[in-house]
Amino acid sequence: MDTYVIVGAGLTGAKAAETLRAEGFTGRVVLVGAEPDLPYERPPLSKGYLLGRDDRASVFVHDEKWYTEQDIEVVTGRRATALDRAAHEVELAGGERLGYTKLLLATGASPRRLRVPGNDLDGVHYLRRLGHADRLRDALATGGRVVVAGAGWIGLETAAAARAYGCEVTIVEPGPSPLHATLGPELGGFFTGLHRRHGVDLRLGTGVTGFDGDETVSAVLTDAGEIPADVVVVGIGARPETQLAEDAGLAVDDGVRVDSALRTEDPDIYVASAWHPGYDRPIRVEHWAAATNGGPAAARSMLGREVVYDELPYFFSDQYDAGLEFTGWFPPGGYDRVVTRGGDEAFHAFWLAGGRVVAGLHVNQWDEGLDGVRELIRSGRTVDPAELADPARPLLS
Ligand SMILES: Cc1cc2nc3c(=O)[nH]c(=O)nc-3n(C[C@H](O)[C@H](O)[C@H](O)COP(=O)(O)OP(=O)(O)OC[C@H]3O[C@@H](n4cnc5c(N)ncnc54)[C@H](O)[C@@H]3O)c2cc1C
Repeated sequence: MDTYVIVGAGLTGAKAAETLRAEGFTGRVVLVGAEPDLPYERPPLSKGYLLGRDDRASVFVHDEKWYTEQDIEVVTGRRATALDRAAHEVELAGGERLGYTKLLLATGASPRRLRVPGNDLDGVHYLRRLGHADRLRDALATGGRVVVAGAGWIGLETAAAARAYGCEVTIVEPGPSPLHATLGPELGGFFTGLHRRHGVDLRLGTGVTGFDGDETVSAVLTDAGEIPADVVVVGIGARPETQLAEDAGLAVDDGVRVDSALRTEDPDIYVASAWHPGYDRPIRVEHWAAATNGGPAAARSMLGREVVYDELPYFFSDQYDAGLEFTGWFPPGGYDRVVTRGGDEAFHAFWLAGGRVVAGLHVNQWDEGLDGVRELIRSGRTVDPAELADPARPLLS
């Protein structure tokens, strides 16, 4: 019997397993995960779950019964430690070897660590796993002074959650504006205003140099002085978990190298992060939609279906009363202007390169959403910036 092994029991892994069965695969499916829990969704960990609004059961992709019914074997709490490509085997922690016919690497990413003195003091939190969210939720519930290192998505959402708990919140960000590396400077004013209006002390152009404390953190040291802290959250990005692939001799650049059908150079090993035909380059995005679309696409490719993975990257975020969605992609600095359409608190923003829309975002514009933006990006047609900025004109005319 064919055995399809999925290493990494996150959202990608779970969605791939689900699709294998939905597409009629009757062989053995084994999902191997290093974490103790069944696959779960991470977005609630910095939103509803962190805020105590979503209960624990709601974050899981499926309950245990579903995996039994689907005849999907889930091995939790076991790390895959090596791949033997010649023998078609995965080695698990403890030495057990698991044979595979086809293998999907869905190992995701891990938080980047801040390598400064005091990083391992109690009270310094990272937010990736359910257990991290449990500990952080308990810490926020006791109130006090929270310092967030990094004004990226995780840092901003966590800051908003901490304010909801009534904590005093300071964000320390070395860049000139929030989300600078992701969105550029143009929307910096919006995110700065949003957080300052909600009482966050946002310190831009300031880097963390260390943490002070006796067992438990009591202050964050920055290049502009010391900030007292009871709780610290570090949100400085994630790095792809590529060690298994690298050790097995697979080509790794920013992530594992794959083609547009999500195949690595080994015909029996797949990764849900593709060479994007629309951009003619590999696009690795660590977003929810990349897992919900990429996992199923990888599963179909494993089954020999024709797959060309060309989904536009998509991301959503919630901060206070601002809900936003982003789609598209550009390399750092890969646009020449940003056009906005709408008011201060509900608007669209478009990133243009050579007169064409390469990415778009909306804040609280749920009626129009992103459909028109996606069509503008996919069509590649040139747009008139004045018309684009005019809310009275339809997006697509
Ligand atoms: C707090 C938080 C909030 C987020 N909010 C949003 C949001 O609002 N919107 C959005 O679009 N995206 C959001 N994301 C991003 C999104 O959830 C992730 O991109 C998504 O989880 C990716 O799923 P994945 O399965 O590919 O990878 P991961 O979630 O990283 O899962 C990979 C799994 O593989 C396991 N693993 C790794 N190596 C091994 C090994 N050798 N052996 C066995 N198991 C292994 C890991 O332990 C992990 O469980 C958020 C992420 C976080 C952390």
